[in-house]
Amino acid sequence: MYKLTDKSLENLQNDGVPFNELRNLGRIKDKSFDQESEFLHAVKNVIRPEEYEPEEYDRYIRLILKHAKPLKIEYPRDFGKCRAEGCNMYAVPGEGYCYTHL
Ligand SMILES: [Zn+2]
Repeated sequence: MYKLTDKSLENLQNDGVPFNELRNLGRIKDKSFDQESEFLHAVKNVIRPEEYEPEEYDRYIRLILKHAKPLKIEYPRDFGKCRAEGCNMYAVPGEGYCYTHL
């Protein structure tokens, strides 16, 4: 899952992404994308590749992907671990949480 958060934008700023690009990226802040391709499509709508040198654009994309990846994987509903913070139990099918966190 890909999502830009306030923290992602702060990290991008620390990595040298200019204000103008950060402001444009802010338009897709807090939106979640399941696929990298969907995310990149959204990024290209707010930061247009044709306005940059290819190497410069590649550098931005690499940084954006790096900082848009959440550290914690969010499992889809009906599958995987309980979504309660710090819980490692398996979720009840269809619930997203384990028995103790329902
Ligand atoms: Zn749990």
